[in-house]
Amino acid sequence: MAKENMKQYVEDVLELIKKKDWNQPEFMNTAKEVLYSIIPVLEAHPEYKANKLLERFIEPERVVIFRVPWADDKGELQVNRGFRVQMSSAIGPYKGGLRFHPSVNLSIMKFLAMEQVLKNALSGLPIGGGKGGSDFDPKGKSDGEVMRFCQSFMTELYRHIGADIDVPAGDIGVGGREIGYLYGQYKRITKLYEGVLTGKGLTFGGSLARTEATGYGLLYFVKEMLEDAGMDIKGKTVLVSGAGNVATYAIEKAQQMGAKVVTCSDSNGYVYDPDGIDLALVKDIKEVRRARISEYVKKRKKAKYFEDKDGSKGVWTVKADIALPCATQNELDLNSAKILVKNGVKAVGEGANMPSTLDAIEFLQKKGVLFAPAKASNVGGVSVSALEMSQNSERLHWTFEEVDERLKGIMHGSYTQAKEAAERYGVKGNLLAGANLAGFEKVATAMQAQGWV
Ligand code: NDP
Repeated sequence: MAKENMKQYVEDVLELIKKKDWNQPEFMNTAKEVLYSIIPVLEAHPEYKANKLLERFIEPERVVIFRVPWADDKGELQVNRGFRVQMSSAIGPYKGGLRFHPSVNLSIMKFLAMEQVLKNALSGLPIGGGKGGSDFDPKGKSDGEVMRFCQSFMTELYRHIGADIDVPAGDIGVGGREIGYLYGQYKRITKLYEGVLTGKGLTFGGSLARTEATGYGLLYFVKEMLEDAGMDIKGKTVLVSGAGNVATYAIEKAQQMGAKVVTCSDSNGYVYDPDGIDLALVKDIKEVRRARISEYVKKRKKAKYFEDKDGSKGVWTVKADIALPCATQNELDLNSAKILVKNGVKAVGEGANMPSTLDAIEFLQKKGVLFAPAKASNVGGVSVSALEMSQNSERLHWTFEEVDERLKGIMHGSYTQAKEAAERYGVKGNLLAGANLAGFEKVATAMQAQGWV
């Protein structure tokens, strides 16, 4: 009886989204995935329904959408749209990245913000969830153009953020360069030297190991998941998609752990290197020259480059033991999952946010593939961001080893919480459901304690 009620409650709330946010498909998909999986928590806490907890959970506390005018190198005015979704401050100040990419819209911002709320809860640190960005495309822009864009973006954003209010970080298209420009403008406007952005340069408040955190954290998580199933990462063949921040440091840690990574990609195509990816070369191409990954094969004779207009999907056609999608959302679909399974994949670990489609995840889980869901397995980035906030508040710098040790502990905590919640609620082995259940439990408990806000 109670079970029926809560399923109906979830469906009523999804209907509400359909009515109000009919043009937000990514947000709707996330809400569906999350809300159905937390029904057991709702059943254990019927008071949540009475307090309209889900209706509040799906409604961002605040959304800011703003105009970003900036001058290009020809002196012409360009206008982009900026966003900040402050989804939930139930357990701490809003925290979540800024994404600069032409695909950015309100639906994507809200889906990422909702994921962030649950992910941040799993980090075990006192941080709420938010997300922001712009449809600005940094690709092909000069440093001057990127700087002017960032300054204009911050000229509005500064009103809405602060070290104890909302602390953005980087995401797709927002790396150290952009964070530097954004921070400079924030400081110039507010006169405040505070930990308002994370991912800062090491000379002005950044944390050691922040750059590496998401990729390294993913590998700590995947290694533990494999070990739990009696497998060793050493000697395994690994597929990585992307060649950005997450992908680069996932490759680095996988190699340090003795695995062989044979692919990486960008939005134009992918590289297959049977001898193992030469990471120094990838870093030179992506971090120094900011060029396309197709350059890779000019220096590595045995490697092959495949043009792949369909995002990174070609990567998943290569035979391997472990697949780590680290580029973008929906890059691993059902068809890719089928190919991976046919090729004998044993584990999939999500580095990017929601890189696997729902039907792909269901298929992988049905076939017994170990699956590490993004909101638990890529929590390393935001966690070290939160450690950067702590260091800024203390006005201290921790060593690389100190941060890395804490990161390992956080990833262990995230894995354990997802695993144990899955067991507790009768979905043993389903880390995605476990992550939703554990994250939601924490946020819901805080919301319930704080009254009708
Ligand atoms: P970067 O911008 O550094 O790199 C993104 C990479 O993915 C690039 O190689 C990019 O190629 C590729 N890519 C982007 N869009 C597409 C597409 N549509 N099809 C194929 N490839 C694409 O971003 P990050 O590495 O920081 O982020 C990657 C993912 O990880 C995102 O989902 C992000 O939200 C998530 N994430 C990042 C964290 C972090 O700490 N950085 C923390 C947690 C999650 P190209 O250069 O051609 O665009």
